Amino acid sequence: MIYEPSNRMSDRIERKIRPFRSRRLMKFEIDRPIISITFDDFPKTAISVGANMLDKYGWTGTFYTCTGFAGITNHHGPQYDAADLPALEASGHEIAAHTYDHLDCTRLSEAQIQDQIKRNRQGLADMGVKQPVTSFAYPYGATNAGLKGFLGEHYHAVRGIGSGVHYDTADLNELKSEGLYSNSFKSTLSTLSGLSRRPGWYTLFTHDICENPTRWGCRPNEFETALEIIKSLGAIVLPVRDAVTYLENPHV
Ligand SMILES: [Zn+2]
Repeated sequence: MIYEPSNRMSDRIERKIRPFRSRRLMKFEIDRPIISITFDDFPKTAISVGANMLDKYGWTGTFYTCTGFAGITNHHGPQYDAADLPALEASGHEIAAHTYDHLDCTRLSEAQIQDQIKRNRQGLADMGVKQPVTSFAYPYGATNAGLKGFLGEHYHAVRGIGSGVHYDTADLNELKSEGLYSNSFKSTLSTLSGLSRRPGWYTLFTHDICENPTRWGCRPNEFETALEIIKSLGAIVLPVRDAVTYLENPHV
C-alpha cells in the first residue's frame, strides 16, 4: 500500500495558510526565466532517461535522495544504487536530502526528524557524496509551520510540492514545485510557455520516467518536450542550490 498524507479538512486548511507562515523570503529580479529540474526519491529511470537527457542539453538537476532506498525496488521501479550518486555528482548534478526512510515529517517528533536527517547525511557520505548537502525536499510535500522553521535551520533551500511559479520572491523554507507528471502535463507546459511573457523561477519535480509511468511520473517524450520548450524560452537551467545562489545576487 502506498502511503499518502491525510486529506482531512484541518490538513487542507493548514496547507492553505502554511505558505504565509514561517517564511524565509528571498527577493529577486530577473529578466530571463530560471528553471530547476528535480527528481525525488528516485528510480533508475530518473538517471537513465532524466539525467542523460539533461546531459545532452548541457544542463544539470537536483536529486532528492532517501538513502534508505538505495538498491531497493518500489512502485517507481528499481531505485538508484550506491554507485549512481558519485557518478551523478561527477556530472555536476546536485545531490540533495529527502529523509532516510521517506517519512511524512508531520507525523514525527523532532528527535525522529533529527535522526532521519543524520542517518541520511551519513548515508550520502558513505556512498561517496562529497558536495555539501544544502537542499532538502519534504517527503509527500508534508510540512507545517514548525517544521518549516526547523528544516530551514538545517538546509539553505527547502522544497515542497505547492504548484506555481516564483515571481519576485521565493520562500526558502517551502519552495514551490510543479509535478512534471503525465496527468497534468498540458497545464505544466502552458505554465512553462507563459514564462516568455513574465519571467520567473519555476521548479519541476518528477519520479519515474518510462512508457507506463505511475501517476507521479512522466513519459520520456514528455520529458523531452518540456526540455525543448525550456530551451526555446532561452531559460537558465540550474540545480536548486545554484538557482538560489544566482537569485541571491542581482542580475538586472
Ligand atoms: Zn519523495
